[in-house]
Amino acid sequence: MSDFPIRLLLIEDNPLHSRLIQQLLKTDTQLRCEVEAVERLDEGLVRLTRGKVDLVLLDLVLPDSEELETLWRVRLVAPQVPVVILTSLDDVKLAARAVESGAYDYLVKSHLKGASLGRAVRYTLARARARGGEWDSPMFRLAQQQFLKASQYMGLDDNVRQRLLFPQRAHMVSFPFFRDDHSQVETVFGYRVQHVLTMGPTKGGIRYHEGVDLGEVAALAMWMTWKCALMKLPFGGAKGGVRVDPTALSRTELQRLTRRYTTEIIEMIGPDRDIPAPDLGTDEQVMAWLMDTYSQQIGHAVPTVVTGKPVVLGGSLGRKEATGRGLVFLIEASAQHLGLELSKATAVVQGFGNVGSHTARFLAELGVKIIGVGDVSTSLYRREGLSVKDLQAYVDEHRVLDGYPDAEPISNADLLELDCDVLVLAALQNQVTVENAAQISCRLLAEGANGPTMLEADDILHDRGIFVLPDILGNAGGVTVSYFEWVQGMQNLTWTLDEINGRLKSILLDAFRRTLHRAQKDRLDMRTAALIEGVSRVTEAKLWRGVFP
Ligand code: NAD
Repeated sequence: MSDFPIRLLLIEDNPLHSRLIQQLLKTDTQLRCEVEAVERLDEGLVRLTRGKVDLVLLDLVLPDSEELETLWRVRLVAPQVPVVILTSLDDVKLAARAVESGAYDYLVKSHLKGASLGRAVRYTLARARARGGEWDSPMFRLAQQQFLKASQYMGLDDNVRQRLLFPQRAHMVSFPFFRDDHSQVETVFGYRVQHVLTMGPTKGGIRYHEGVDLGEVAALAMWMTWKCALMKLPFGGAKGGVRVDPTALSRTELQRLTRRYTTEIIEMIGPDRDIPAPDLGTDEQVMAWLMDTYSQQIGHAVPTVVTGKPVVLGGSLGRKEATGRGLVFLIEASAQHLGLELSKATAVVQGFGNVGSHTARFLAELGVKIIGVGDVSTSLYRREGLSVKDLQAYVDEHRVLDGYPDAEPISNADLLELDCDVLVLAALQNQVTVENAAQISCRLLAEGANGPTMLEADDILHDRGIFVLPDILGNAGGVTVSYFEWVQGMQNLTWTLDEINGRLKSILLDAFRRTLHRAQKDRLDMRTAALIEGVSRVTEAKLWRGVFP
């Protein structure tokens, strides 16, 4: 327990509720707090401007302010102070929107008990502290807020909810590697995070990017948990990453970096523990180096320690293109649901790496006209349609799209706002925001990338009737064929490409139908419906296993 009491500001107009909350707070022996209670928002705002408040407990419906405006006004005056919403049972939707708008947590007043109230306060403060450090990342905030929103709609038991908000294991390393001239040693940060260890081994890609931090990797690990559960795969979620710009390194530098990173995380990984795969900035060559480094340490070849490796080393047919292929299976299913004829449709694809280029190719094979593409170097537009084959040949030679002759260069912002039927996001996170969501001009938004849409933008898209294939569903083809690769490796057998694509399609379409059914039945957006599917499965597993000891 801290030596200093926590300074709580309680803004609640009902004196009965206010007294009850203060009494309950006293019953938590782990919590030492001083509570200042006010009944009106204007009094609360005055108190906040004087500073020295650690946390606000906020009733949203007050005599001088109503609903979300209450929260916005508090956040305007004290953006750094975490806010926990007090809600009544019939305000579930309002509380979900408050979480979207930056509230840390919500408490249903009629369910309040001393233990749960005290724990929510302590946990919120722990999260607020964590957000200030290495965990701080817009992506982790997004992942947590999405999860809180889903758990609100499903009425998730608070005991489980608190356990799922942070990863079970996180390992952070800093390590050196030699640049090619061997006089310069570069030191970089690396991470491996395992979010849920309940379901079986953990699974998740490794990302090389200059923006990687602990929070980003934690968000990606959390999404992997929901994605695997949504697909009914026997894995928990994990993710790894190194904060480095891989495009600035030679192949030999990349190899040294990969081998050293593997050695740093070797205790965490293994075919029965945690199985990495490619992600942004990594590919089958990186997986081959990782597998080789691990195998050298163990003393014999262990192909099942990674997926997404070359076929000759035990990789699976169809893995390389699996994320794009899966996304296109789901686009077809969505188009059927929307009554959209794909052979007459247009598409724009942001990102032309593994996911984006294969998605563009499979869409073009269905007769979809690709009118725009973009990557880190440029974006391109051609109203009559772009040749995916020519784009691929150009990128194979020049690494990026910049300089491609047969199209008009446009900005990334303009690319996203092009008028089209299908917009595919296959690059980075945080692309559709409150600023541009109203200008997105497609019928179907297909997320190949992880976390490309911010929470507030989701509501705008939903209100505008844009159908969203959320990331944990849209890009799940990759982990699904990774699972096939792992199964084939564990059993020393191989499946044909037809078998793989057939199984992939049936797993994805089953998840699509379940998600759509839930979205329609409970009047939810597709993302929240997909999250609830995944979170429910993980919750059920956690409850069966119980708490050790
Ligand atoms: P990749 O490295 O092969 O390709 C990334 C693409 O994004 C490149 O074309 C790059 O130029 C482009 N890009 C990078 N920064 C950009 C920017 N600022 N603006 C526009 N474009 C930019 O990576 P990938 O494997 O295709 O992964 C793309 C996304 O898909 C990531 O979010 C990743 O987490 C997700 N994903 C990948 C897989 C997989 O199997 N590879 C599976 C699931 C999800």
